[in-house]
Amino acid sequence: MKKNIHPKYFEDAKIICSCGKVWHIPSTVKEMKVEICANCHPFFTGEEKLVDTRGQLEKFKKRLEKMKKNEKRRDKKVS
Ligand SMILES: [Zn+2]
Repeated sequence: MKKNIHPKYFEDAKIICSCGKVWHIPSTVKEMKVEICANCHPFFTGEEKLVDTRGQLEKFKKRLEKMKKNEKRRDKKVS
């Protein structure tokens, strides 16, 4: 290995998930915070869970409601 071009490698880095699970894996960063991990990801847990970290889902729901309201209004005009 060439010297001085490789980042420091931590054999036991701490990866902290928002679900509370802490993973110890080798990494180039000593500590990292993640929002989702294999412990809580719906794909692995099998449960249907929506992960909304930035309020995007809330925005989408509001938009959907607005669209539905507009549709109703349009229906009234037609009939
Ligand atoms: Zn997790």
